[in-house]
Amino acid sequence: MKTIVLGGGVIGVTTAYYLAQEGHEVVVVEARDSLGTDATGGNAGLIAPGHSFAWASPAAPKMLLASLRGEKTAIRVKPRLDAKLVTWGLQFLRECTPARAEANTLVKLELCLYSQRLLDELAAAESIDYHHVQKGLAYLYRTQAELDAGVKKMDLLRRNGVPMDVLDAEQVAKLDPAFASAGNTFAGAIHVTSDASGNSELFTNELAARCQAMGVEFRLGVTAQRFVVAGDRVTGVQTDAGLLTADDYVLAMGIQSPFLARSAGQRLPMYPAKGYSLTADIVDSDAAPTVGGVDEATLVAWSRFGDQLRISSTAEFAGFNRDWKYSDFSNILKTGKEIFPGAVDWERARMRSCMRPMTPDGPPIIGRGKQANLYYNTGHGHMGWTMACGSSRIMADIVAGRTPALDLQPFQVRSHRVAA
Ligand SMILES: Cc1cc2nc3c(=O)[nH]c(=O)nc-3n(C[C@H](O)[C@H](O)[C@H](O)COP(=O)(O)OP(=O)(O)OC[C@H]3O[C@@H](n4cnc5c(N)ncnc54)[C@H](O)[C@@H]3O)c2cc1C
Repeated sequence: MKTIVLGGGVIGVTTAYYLAQEGHEVVVVEARDSLGTDATGGNAGLIAPGHSFAWASPAAPKMLLASLRGEKTAIRVKPRLDAKLVTWGLQFLRECTPARAEANTLVKLELCLYSQRLLDELAAAESIDYHHVQKGLAYLYRTQAELDAGVKKMDLLRRNGVPMDVLDAEQVAKLDPAFASAGNTFAGAIHVTSDASGNSELFTNELAARCQAMGVEFRLGVTAQRFVVAGDRVTGVQTDAGLLTADDYVLAMGIQSPFLARSAGQRLPMYPAKGYSLTADIVDSDAAPTVGGVDEATLVAWSRFGDQLRISSTAEFAGFNRDWKYSDFSNILKTGKEIFPGAVDWERARMRSCMRPMTPDGPPIIGRGKQANLYYNTGHGHMGWTMACGSSRIMADIVAGRTPALDLQPFQVRSHRVAA
């Protein structure tokens, strides 16, 4: 069987790997000249079942309202005439009830836990070094009241298999000496001991090399333009390098997936949540953390990638515009310098924006759509690095006609949520 995988991010490349393992002849089509450079190349690096809460929660509408009033919230909306945003936003608001938020969180959590296990197995089997740090992640709180509220919120994950310790300020400084520089900034932390961090761009490229050795072909610099459909089958994908054909097709183009899906008559409920990402060279190794984490007040997240520190933050619902300006990084720079002063070369930090492919409910879209030979593996939102191996294993199971390890209903190809 020949399969074309559209998109060379962490989702596309893990899909290619599992399909190649099954004996498929796989071609990966990637618009850019290198793999894993879009969302995969800008994320915070957290492998974080401990952060798998659905964004659509009872607290979200208040935060979005505050953002519409011009307050600098971590999740913000830029008001604009955008039918896609309105449609997506209404679906998102429907998911903000306590019951829906809990159900969506548990679906995401199960996928994250499954995926982390497969990531560990895959990396061990293929000897992939991707700056993996397995020391847990620290979710830091600035006041005792916020820590108490965090502990209460985290109880849902704890009851569902996520191991964690609650640390006071002294214990936080012992967990990683780099946190000591923050002085009295934090009242304490929740240390999710099984969470981890790692560089998903490096992982994607290392895995691609293993895929190549298994015979996978990578067509870089080739842009998919539309599917060619006949009856209930896709007969080809038109690209700027001509028509490409295969038996099966997997759509894994991150935030660009909905555009191609439309040519197969499928609406996908996805909208970009733009984030800002900074990568800086470490100049004082002791002052830079090895334990990744999140400042829960500013929602600034970081991971150590060898001799570099990756820090990212912000979710802006502002369309597909990737522009950024220096001031967009004020939250990251302020928090970073406050927690890790002197750790990195802030002056020469590399900055960029990138986009999370968000579904309104939270779970990604994994499965077959209207055509018998077109599969979807997309919409992984803020957790795609964590969910990649699990999603792609499920994808390969579906293609092979096997029953996947997880219930597929919450991931089904949809234009909006279909009640269970
Ligand atoms: C700021 C930020 C922080 C994040 N932090 C974390 C984190 O800490 N932990 C975590 O688990 N997740 C995190 N994520 C989410 C994670 O990065 C994404 O969910 C994941 O990278 C999505 O992978 P993907 O392969 O679907 O998309 P992408 O990495 O965007 O890959 C899609 C690929 O498709 C290609 N493509 C697009 N259009 C076409 C076309 N027409 N033809 C051919 N190719 C095309 C693109 O060039 C791209 O390479 C974060 C995301 C952001 C933006």
